[in-house]
Amino acid sequence: MKFGRIGTSGSVELIDTETPTPGDGEVTVRLAACGICGTDLEKLRGNYRTAGILGHEPVGRVEEVGPGVAGLARGDRVFAHHHVPCLACPVCARGDLTFCPEYSRSNLAPGGFAEVFRVPALNVSRGAILPLDPAVDWSTGALLEPAGCALTALRRVRPPPQASYAVLGLGPIGLLYARVARALGASWIGGADLSAHRRAIATPTSVDVACDVRDGGLPKEVDRATQGRGVDVAVVATGDPAAIRSGAEMVRRGGSLNLMGLPAPGSRLDYDLQQLYLRGVQVIPTYATTEPDVREVHRLLVDRRLDLDGIVTHRLPLGRLADAFALAGRPEESEKVLVTGDAFD
Ligand SMILES: [Zn+2]
Ligand SMILES: [Zn+2]
Repeated sequence: MKFGRIGTSGSVELIDTETPTPGDGEVTVRLAACGICGTDLEKLRGNYRTAGILGHEPVGRVEEVGPGVAGLARGDRVFAHHHVPCLACPVCARGDLTFCPEYSRSNLAPGGFAEVFRVPALNVSRGAILPLDPAVDWSTGALLEPAGCALTALRRVRPPPQASYAVLGLGPIGLLYARVARALGASWIGGADLSAHRRAIATPTSVDVACDVRDGGLPKEVDRATQGRGVDVAVVATGDPAAIRSGAEMVRRGGSLNLMGLPAPGSRLDYDLQQLYLRGVQVIPTYATTEPDVREVHRLLVDRRLDLDGIVTHRLPLGRLADAFALAGRPEESEKVLVTGDAFD
């Protein structure tokens, strides 16, 4: 079978490998769809801490169930987590599951962009496989992980009821964050992006207003919507220090600045710290998600309290993985790009 990995030249390549079979406590899954995440793109650009494995948002049908696995059968439609927390360390005990030191030690093999992938016993034993409700189609299912990241972030932020938001960066994560924030009762969401295409996709389904970053429109909209107080939460869904600084300036006194994008290694923030201190802005970096939050997103979808339509703009088959990556890197043409496997129907 074929799977996608980072080639020696730093491009994504499809190579042949043996189809995995499940060992004790393991499950293999035939790919239906897996989204390309910003971190996949950053891994390819060499900006991530590990070159690592590509594809961590997969949904598919159970192919084979290993000895000792209960409750799953061949053909079941599932989502599978690539990382799982230990649930036993002091970090996990505090509820900061994605910051568990064990979190990134388990992985899908050989990754989510594979015709068939293996879910290790450790993941299966910690509840990493979520059966999909028939109401959740493959494209929506492939958004469970990144939407889970938004919910995990919002749980850390703990926004007040009817919170107001500024979303800087209207890529897939910015849009998913806005949708989840709406499901949690957001009263107003303003957004900004450089891409006219992404601003057009974002309104009105994800944000109330989408501004061009270059004309300074969002701070004016924030002032108008909040009578000059600033938003409860500014979320920066890009790692650009200029966007982080701009987000900090739009937060109200005592509000939260949620960092959701990966800054380049070694990047620095030039910001007046006395302002940050006196205004009591809480800086909250968040990434990744865990089984309870993905399960909650799934429940919100089944209950029709969360709608993720319109965020996936392209679906390309695994055989066109390189084209899919190129497209995901072009914000003027795409939002969320999914890679599909033979289980997609
Ligand atoms: Zn991701
Ligand atoms: Zn832990």
